[in-house]
Amino acid sequence: MADLAPGSGVNASAPLVLIVEDEPAQREVLSYNISAEGLRMAIAEDGEEALLLVEEEQPDLIVLDWMLPNVSGLEVCRRLKARKATKNIPIIMLTARNEEDDRVRGIETGADDYVVKPYSVNELMARIRGILRRVRPASSDEIIQYGDIVLDSEKYKVTRNGKALKLGPIEFRLLSTFMEKPGRVWSRDQLLTRVWGRDSDVDTRTVDVHIGRLRKAMSKHGGINPIRTVRGAGYSLDDDG
Ligand code: CA
Repeated sequence: MADLAPGSGVNASAPLVLIVEDEPAQREVLSYNISAEGLRMAIAEDGEEALLLVEEEQPDLIVLDWMLPNVSGLEVCRRLKARKATKNIPIIMLTARNEEDDRVRGIETGADDYVVKPYSVNELMARIRGILRRVRPASSDEIIQYGDIVLDSEKYKVTRNGKALKLGPIEFRLLSTFMEKPGRVWSRDQLLTRVWGRDSDVDTRTVDVHIGRLRKAMSKHGGINPIRTVRGAGYSLDDDG
């Protein structure tokens, strides 16, 4: 398993692609091309790991191999599409078979797209870009706006109502995570994974501390608190602060 931690040169608010592939050579080709595209990624080597990573990382897109050890790609797809929290994550299925039956089964399972092996990497990347444009329109821009908040992830700058705000690196990553999907509720664990990385041993209380700092920084020049606490669930970026 490999995971690109924030700060490794990839934009922290770039879309996250989960690659599920058991063949090392295939994984290498995919991860090379996906990181060359400036996307963040997580990699699972089998179906079980994939289900776990989806839970933890909340990817924006899954590239899922059909033939996997233990839990098959088909089963992974079926389970993800059956759950409310994961059913909207687009899935591109990779398969070595191209029988019509399998295609139909793949589509019935809810896979959003289908690529038959051996595939052209360029074609797969084009489909990945196409889906991401649809699900994450903001991610193709470096500048995201929500209400009076403008975040420029390239220049690492945040303004509110036109006035520059000073944010620490953790607060900046928290805000860009929130701004990806305004209104979405993020649990402390999800924020930990997103902002500190999967292998960090940071306590969830640390999240609260940085949320406090972020709120303070956001209201430095006035304006309501844009981060809502959702009792028992986590935090979200929300105008009703
Ligand atoms: Ca395989």
